[in-house]
Amino acid sequence: MPDPADALSTRIANKRDDLIALTQELIRIPTLNPPGENYHAICDYLERRLRKRGFHCVFERATGAPGDSDAYPRWNIIARREGKRAGDCVHFNSHTDVVEVGLGWTFDPFGGELKDGRIYGRGACDMKGGLASSIIAAEAFIEECSDYAGAIEISGTADEESGGYGGVAHLAQLGYFDPKRVQHVIIPEPLNPDRICLGHRGGWWAEIETFGEIAHGSMPFLGDCAVRHMGAVLEKFETDLFPAMAARHTEMPVVPEGARSSTMNINSIHGGQGEPDEESGALPSHCVPDSCRIIIDRRYLIEEDADGVAAEVTGLLDGLKASRSDFDYKLTELNRVVPSMTDKSAPIVTTVDQAIRDVTGKPPEYVASPGSYDQKHIDRIGKLKNCIAYGPGILELAHKPDEWIGVDDMITSAQVIGHSLFALLTPNKT
Ligand SMILES: [Zn+2]
Repeated sequence: MPDPADALSTRIANKRDDLIALTQELIRIPTLNPPGENYHAICDYLERRLRKRGFHCVFERATGAPGDSDAYPRWNIIARREGKRAGDCVHFNSHTDVVEVGLGWTFDPFGGELKDGRIYGRGACDMKGGLASSIIAAEAFIEECSDYAGAIEISGTADEESGGYGGVAHLAQLGYFDPKRVQHVIIPEPLNPDRICLGHRGGWWAEIETFGEIAHGSMPFLGDCAVRHMGAVLEKFETDLFPAMAARHTEMPVVPEGARSSTMNINSIHGGQGEPDEESGALPSHCVPDSCRIIIDRRYLIEEDADGVAAEVTGLLDGLKASRSDFDYKLTELNRVVPSMTDKSAPIVTTVDQAIRDVTGKPPEYVASPGSYDQKHIDRIGKLKNCIAYGPGILELAHKPDEWIGVDDMITSAQVIGHSLFALLTPNKT
C-alpha cells in the first residue's frame, strides 16, 4: 500500500495548474494598503472557493480599528472545516493586504503573469503565494484524508502591513486565537520552503522634540536653536546609544545576521519652518527654529524589554538636560510591539521540522524575523504560543518591484504543510 503522506504529496503536485490559477486570481484583486482596498472582495473570493470545499465562513469587520471607514472597511474572513471527530485545530493565517506598487516594474503589478515558473505581481510572495499554498495543501489533505480529526481553519486578514490592528489583533481580541479553539498556527509568510521562522524582534517607536526660541536669523544669539539641540541628541546617540546597542546580541536566530543586535533607525527629522514648495521659487524667511522633531524606530531583542529601551533613551535626554544649558525635550511614545519567539520544542515546530525533512530530505534552518509580523498579536492577545511562520517565497523580494513567487517553491511548501496536517490531524495513521 502506498504511504498516504506520499500520496498526499503527489496529489498536491498534480494540483499545480490550480495552484497557479489561484495565486494569479488572488494577485488580480488589488488589496492595496494604504488605503486598505478590496478587503471585502478578496474575502468574498475566498468564501466562494472554500465554501465549496465544506468550510464554514465568517466575515469580521474591525469596525473602529485604525484606517477602518465605510469607504475602506477592514474585512477579515475565518473559514473553518470540522473533521469527523474531536482533535486539534490547525489554523493558517495569511494577510490579504499588499504594500504600494512603487516604481521600476516591468510586469503588470496586478496581472499575475506566469513566466519561466514564476508568478509576478504585488503580493506574489508577500503573501498571496503562501495563502494559495496553504489552501491547496488543505484541499488536497481533505480529499486524501476525509476522516481527519479536529478542524482546519484558514483566515485571510487585513492590515498586516500597517500593524495588523484591523486584522489579526482584532480577531485575537474576539477570541479567535484562544488556545481552547485553535491549537496550532502557521503563518505562510515568505521564508523559503526549508526555513522555520520562530518569531520576531520587538519594536519601540517614539517622537522626540527639542525646543528653542524664535528670533531673527541674523541675530541667532537672541534666540535658541532647536536644531542645534537636536544635533546634541544625535551626537549622544552616536557616542553612547549606537555602540551600546551594537554590543548586545540575541540568542534569537535572526536573519540577516546584522539584525542579531539591537538596532535603531532615525526615520525622519524636521526642524524650523517648512521648506518652500519647489515650484514656488519663494525664499525662506530668516528665523531661528524653535522646534525640531525626529521619529525613531528602535528594534529590540527578546533579551530586552520596551520599558528598558524607553528608559535608555530618556536617560540620555535627561543627561543632556543636566549638562546642556536651555536644553528641553518632549518624548512621545508612538507604538510598541513585543518580541515573540516560539519554543523549538513546541508541537507545531517539531511537526513542521519533520515534514520539511520528509519532503525535502534536508533538515530545516531556524530563523527569526528582524521586523515583526502578526505572530505578536497571536502571542500577546491570543495567548497562543504554538505559532510559527512557514511559507514559500524569498523574503528579500517582498515590497520590491517585479515581486515574484516560484511555483516549485509553492508546491514544496504546500507538500510540507500537507504532511504537517497529516501528522497533526490523523492520529490513527499507520
Ligand atoms: Zn507579509
